Order: sequence, then C-alpha cells, then structure tokens
Amino acid sequence: MGIPITFLKGVKSKRAAMLEALNVRTLEDLALLLPRGYEDRTKTARIAQLAPEMEVTVTARILRMDFRQIRRNFSVMNLRVSDGTGDMTITFYNPKYIRSKFEKGAVMHFFGKIVKGYYGLEMTNPVFEVATQETSASQFSGILPIYPLARDLTQNFLRKTVKEALALLPPFQENLPEDLVRKYSLMNRDEAIRTLHNPDSLEKAAQARRRLAFEELFIVQLMLMLMRGNYNKDGLGIHFTGEDQTQKLLAGLPFRLTADQEQVWQEIKQDMESAKPMNRLVLGDVGSGKTVLALLAMTKAIGNGYQAAFMAPTEILAEQHFRKIQPMLDALGYHTVLLTGSLGAAKRRETLEAIRTGSAHCVIGTHALIQKDVVFCKPGIMITDEQHRFGVRQRAILAEQATTPDILVMTATPIPRTLALILYGDMDISRIETMPEGRIPIRTFVENDGRRQRVYAWAKKLIEEGRQVYIVHPLVEESDNMEMDALLSATENYEKLSRSVFKEIPCGLVHGRMPSREKDDVMSRFAAGEIKILFSTTVIEVGVDVPNASLMIIENAERFGLAQLHQLRGRVGRGAHQSYCVLFTNSTGEVAKSRMHIMKESTNGFFIAEKDLELRGPGDFFGTQQHGLPQFRVANLYEDMAILKEAQSAAQSVIRSGAEYGTFLENVRKMIPQTIAL
Ligand code: ADP
Ligand code: MG
Repeated sequence: MGIPITFLKGVKSKRAAMLEALNVRTLEDLALLLPRGYEDRTKTARIAQLAPEMEVTVTARILRMDFRQIRRNFSVMNLRVSDGTGDMTITFYNPKYIRSKFEKGAVMHFFGKIVKGYYGLEMTNPVFEVATQETSASQFSGILPIYPLARDLTQNFLRKTVKEALALLPPFQENLPEDLVRKYSLMNRDEAIRTLHNPDSLEKAAQARRRLAFEELFIVQLMLMLMRGNYNKDGLGIHFTGEDQTQKLLAGLPFRLTADQEQVWQEIKQDMESAKPMNRLVLGDVGSGKTVLALLAMTKAIGNGYQAAFMAPTEILAEQHFRKIQPMLDALGYHTVLLTGSLGAAKRRETLEAIRTGSAHCVIGTHALIQKDVVFCKPGIMITDEQHRFGVRQRAILAEQATTPDILVMTATPIPRTLALILYGDMDISRIETMPEGRIPIRTFVENDGRRQRVYAWAKKLIEEGRQVYIVHPLVEESDNMEMDALLSATENYEKLSRSVFKEIPCGLVHGRMPSREKDDVMSRFAAGEIKILFSTTVIEVGVDVPNASLMIIENAERFGLAQLHQLRGRVGRGAHQSYCVLFTNSTGEVAKSRMHIMKESTNGFFIAEKDLELRGPGDFFGTQQHGLPQFRVANLYEDMAILKEAQSAAQSVIRSGAEYGTFLENVRKMIPQTIAL
C-alpha cells in the first residue's frame, strides 16, 4: 500500500534500508514520520547581545581561520567571526569534511548554543550555511524538524526527503467526522501533516501534533469500544450455573482467601454465571495470589462440562503452573495437559488429540495454545497470566465466535489507572490491593563493588541455613553494543563464581538463548532445591515461584527499569523466611540514585510504577506492541493524558449517537483487523 520510497530520486536500496529501520517504507510513512523536536532557528541575535545558554542564529563574517591537527584522530578549527557589533569564536572539532566550506571574508549563518569558552563566548559545532541573498531571510532561520535517526541517516537527508514526499503527495483526506474536528478545535488532517514538518511557529507545531495524536487515540478508543460492544452482547456467552467443585477446592486449600481475593472471585463468578461473556482483567501485585482465582474459575468451567485453557508467557512459567495446578485438579478428577512449543512430535499429537476430543479438561501452555492447529472440543474459559501478547487482537477474535468463551487476564504489571483505560479499554477490571497475611516484607540493600565479597559471604551463610539465591544479570553475552561490553554477563559471572567463591555450592545457569529443554531442567533442579544459586538473565522475571529462595542479587541494577526491578525482587519473599534483595550498582548518576532509593524504600508495585513514569518521563514503559495495540506514531500514552481523555469522551459520544455516524463507524470497524494486530 502506498508509493514506495524508492520512487524518490535520491532513495536507492541502501537508503531505503536505512529508512526501513524507522519503519518508513512509503511516501505516506515519511509524511507521518513524527519529528521528535524542532530546531528553532528563528531567533537571531547580534554578537553584542549574546549570553551563555542562548540558542540563536548569528550572521557574521569570517575574520580568521585557524586549523590544528592535535593528534592523528583529533583536529580543531577555530573561526573568529564578527558582525560589526562584536567578535566571537566558533569551534569545530574534527572538521575534516567541512573545512573547505569556509573561507576568510565569507558571511555565514551559524545556529547553535552559546557557551562560555576559553576565548569568551563561543559556539561549538554549530549548524552553518553561507549567507546568500536568498538564504539570508527565512530559509536558514526557520523552525526545522528534528527527526529520529537510524543507522547512517542524517537530518539533512530526512528533511529533504520528507519535503519531496510531501510535494508529491495529494492532499490528505480528512478522516474524522467534521463536527468533531470543529468541536475539539482540531486542525484538519492535511494541514496538520504538512505543518508538522514545516511549522511557522512552535505553537502551530504543537497544534498539528495534538490533532494527529487525537486522531490516533480516538480511533483506537472507538475500536476498543466497538469490540467491547461485541463482547457485551447478551446471550453470546456461556451460563456457567451448574453444580461445581469450587467449594471442595477451597476447602482443600492450606489458606483462606483474603478479603480482596474473595471479592474478585465473586466478580468472576457473577461474570461466569451471566449470559454475557466474561472479559475481565485482574490486577494484583506480585505475590498477591492470583493463581488461586484462575484455579477456581477453571474448576467452575470444567464442572459445567467445558474446557479451560491457561496461558503463560514463557515455557518455564507454563511448566511451573502445570506442576502446581495439575495435582489440584487431579484431586477433583480432572485431567490436565501441558502444551508448549517444545513438545516432541508424538507427544504433541497426543496432546492435541486430547484437547480435540475433550479428554483434556484443562490445558496449560504458552502462546502455543492459540495456534491454528489447536482445536478445543468445548472451550469455556481462557485465562492468561502476564501474557500481554494475548492482547486486544486475540480478544477480538474470540469475540467474533458464535458462543464466546470467558476471558480472564491476570497481570502484576502495575499499570497506572489512566493507562489501563486505554490498554484494557475493552475490559472490566478487578484489583487485588492487599497481600495475604503473614508476608515478611523484603529488605533491600544498595551496594557497590566494594561490598561484593561481603555479600557473597552472606549468601553462603544463607545457603548453609538452607535457603537459595538468585543472581540476575541484565544481558547474556557481550554484545556488539559498546556500552554493554563492560557489563557482567550471566554466563561469565557463572563461570567465574562457580569456580571460585561458590566452588563448593551447586550452581546453575539459565538464560533466554538456551534450548528450552535445558532451561526447564535447570529450573526444576532449582525448584527442587538441588541447585542453590541460580545465575540468570531476566528470563525469571515474571511469576517464577520458589518460596525457599530468600536472596535476590541484581547486577548492574541501574540497567533495569523500576517496574522490572520490582518484578525481579518479587521472586523472593514468597515463603516463610525473611528475604533480601541486593542491588549492585556502581552508577552515581542522579536518576540511578533516586531509582535505587525508591526500591529501598518501597515494596508497593503501584507506587513504584508511578515513580518510574515520573523518573523516566515519556518512554516505552510497557511497550504498546506487547499489548497488541498499534504502535502510536504520534500519541504518547504518558504525556498525552489530556488528549486521551478528550478522545475518550469523543469516542463515547460517537458510540452513543450510533446511527448518526453510521458509515464512519462501519469504516472504523472494518479497520479493526489490520490495526489491532498481534
Ligand atoms: P501471584 O499473584 O504473583 O500470581 P501467586 O498466586 O503465585 O501470586 O501466590 C503467591 C503465593 O501466595 C503462593 O505460594 C500462594 O499459594 C500463596 N497464597 C495465595 N493466596 C493466599 C492466601 N489467601 N493466604 C496465604 N497464602 C496465599
Ligand atoms: Mg502468578
């Protein structure tokens, strides 16, 4: 779809490949490439008016040029320039390719930041251009878009290419209802897209951006609401009302449900018993006890003659859930099977057969569960645990079937309320806010390398007392990324420590690039207590449950986001023992320090998530892709809350008016399958 970028003269396969790295394949993609900021060259100043920190365009004549080769790979060029009101110095480092562009006596524009340097006020590596009659006015000193770069692309190339693309493309059609454009004072689509790349002012650029962000959020909101409408249709769901064995299951548990768990269970039960299909999200922090709710819901479904499916994000977790759930359902006379991508061919055939004929009541697995060749005999409920890939799209597919199985999505990812609105805009939400009683809060320490030997000695002592230890690393092997080279890798650290400090202690290693057979083997030996220290990457991030582990050591902790640290830390403190988390970091940066401080002070996932957003600012905290939502080109889920709220109320009013927007809604509905892709 669209005109390929190679249609442009300056774009051959090499540049096309670079653009592809920015997800740009067509002229339309280029037109929608969002500048990540602007260079405001409209401010000009005379040299006499300059002060440090100003970002301005100065137009001046070159008085002197001085070039020095300092080392083989390092040279400096100083220009002394004057505009009649004063002199200043312009410094270029390594000016190899641009040196020939300057000559004594030439008048040039320089745009950059003023700093106080050795020779008074200076500009370093400014943007420059010879001041000719034509450029002297507006061209050089406009507001220039700054595009995201990838590979060897340059700003100049992108600016030129986008301009060419816009000149070739016909006007962009308005795609929002006219009355909304007026009501919300939106720029029309064509004006917005063109303004984005060539604004007269920063305010205009902001208006253009707002319009395009509104459009994205509004349309996705509408899609979610339309899907929710499908799901809410009475009579499409299953009435689970018959006798079931949930009471028996509850009676057999070694604990009583907490008040929150009980409340959520009632909500789930009501959903299951109503004629509407359940479409519910359960939010509960790590360790809050979500699994038992899944177990109850599955027991109810199976008791009513249906099958239950339970999907986990990794094989390790699927295995672990299987080991836990299988005996409990077995005690009720139900048959549970495990379906992952690594089953042998024969075993897989057998398992699929059991699912197809209905002899398997409960199926636990990874996303292998939703592959085409998996045919359920009588699907009643689909539960997903920390599996955001079972996203909006999957829910949409299920919603289109004649009778719709109930859906329960469980997550410990602390999603701020506003975000949940869009990510799970099509679902009902339940929350478990309190932890089961008797949990001993984890104690967290922040340490630097100087304390390593002490921490290791302490780990040994805990192991002597019968406990187990995790040591988590941010990456597997040295990568080609220079920054990463310095980091300890799990493999390296394992090789080193298991032969030195921890020589006498059974150690194991698990990381994402291991064959899953090996991974499972190591994990089950750790779960069985055979392995005492587990070196790992973040493959253990979610859900791994080994209550005997009481110490979590995290290497290069500053490399992880707060939400991730919280998840990792949640692997300990699951049993009766006081548990500890040691965050190793040598970073002294301010952000790293405040992050570590927050981890030390709080064990509340929601609090930590909010803080993370504050500290990181906009960023891809959860990754919308993981959730099956489209990547927004313009909208930012953290910064654009105000726009999101407007878009939401606009979408609500459109849905309420229904018929009035008939064709528009039909078009939106048709776009759902392409837009909300897995
Ligand atoms: P998560 O919400 O992280 O999935 P789990 O369901 O794995 O949490 O529960 C964590 C631990 O707490 C498990 O060992 C589970 O048996 C235990 N647990 C769950 N509910 C309760 C409860 N009401 N009282 C005591 N322990 C509980
Ligand atoms: Mg869990």
